[in-house]
Amino acid sequence: MLKISLHTAQKVIIFATLLAHVFYLFVFLLMGEEILVVTNVFSVAIYLFLIRLIYDSSENSKIIMVIFQLEILFHALVCILVLGLGYGFGLLFLASSLILFFTSFTYKFFNYIVVAMQIILSIACYVYLDGQPIKHFDGFKDLLFIFNLSMVCVFSVVISYLLESSNLFIFLDILEKKEIAENILNHDPLTGLLNRTSMQQILSKKELYKNKDFAIVMCDIDNFKKINDTYGHGAGDAVLKSLSGIFKSTFRDEDKVARFGGEEFLAVVLGIKKDAAVSIVERVRETLSKNIVEFEDIKINATMTFGVVAHDGTGEFSLEKMIKQADSLLYAGKRSGKNIVISADYDPKG
Ligand code: GH3
Ligand code: MG
Ligand code: MG
Repeated sequence: MLKISLHTAQKVIIFATLLAHVFYLFVFLLMGEEILVVTNVFSVAIYLFLIRLIYDSSENSKIIMVIFQLEILFHALVCILVLGLGYGFGLLFLASSLILFFTSFTYKFFNYIVVAMQIILSIACYVYLDGQPIKHFDGFKDLLFIFNLSMVCVFSVVISYLLESSNLFIFLDILEKKEIAENILNHDPLTGLLNRTSMQQILSKKELYKNKDFAIVMCDIDNFKKINDTYGHGAGDAVLKSLSGIFKSTFRDEDKVARFGGEEFLAVVLGIKKDAAVSIVERVRETLSKNIVEFEDIKINATMTFGVVAHDGTGEFSLEKMIKQADSLLYAGKRSGKNIVISADYDPKG
């Protein structure tokens, strides 16, 4: 479905109504009805003014609709009083009432006043005219009646289309906000990686790794406390951000990476055997170790140590034990000098 903004919709409505009034002006000139000609010149001037307001600012929407509805009310009233009820100008009240549905366009309270005025004026005109035609039949009566009826039909179609379109806008807006909220909820604000809770949710979906090769990777920044102590917390944060950027670009799209604790990360490498998983992690380690983080005037080189545990997802196994095992390998790596990847197959006893 074509998406158009309410601002564009308003332009369409005002332009269409301006054209209709130019048509009325032309017909009234042919009919020689001076009062109606003068009224229509006034109406055309109002619509030109409304178009200027529309182009001035999209914030004029509500005041434009108020003037628009008052003009229709006034115009229809003059036409009914001059020509009688048979020319179909009362039908235009219906078209104007349809705008009621555009609550975002109009002041709700004002709409009800307009509708009430339309009903009261219709009754007043009927009583005043006493059911008698003011003019004797002329060729313009049917033409104007059909034109006015057509206007109402066209308006109904346009408005129902716009309603559908504005509902779609509201729906898309809600979807977008939901997506933003979910994103905030699932990600760590500093690094933009998944947070611990969302990683735990992902890991609870067994179908992700059941009967598939996968590896759990635990990793931790080396000597991070020293970086913080030497250069300050801001520098530490810059290192965290930079390393996370490398995770995002070096792990594959199908892998999941989360900030699991302060300077600890957990990754799940999916669908590949241990050797392939280890070579991905080795590539990440190498890229990280060559990375220079620039913070203010300082250049910082930070490394990381990794523990990798691989499994083929078959038989009974515990994810918790796998994470523990990866953590033990990580600390074995720390003890053996850091900036290293230590890997093993899953050991149910470990
Ligand atoms: P090791 O190589 O053994 O891992 O030593 P380490 O210094 O990295 O480890 P340690 O656990 O002693 O220090 C971790 C530090 O990480 C301490 C803590 O202040 C810091 N840290 C945790 N979260 C953040 C954070 O969000 N920003 C910054 N700047 N520092 C953090
Ligand atoms: Mg550390
Ligand atoms: Mg740590």
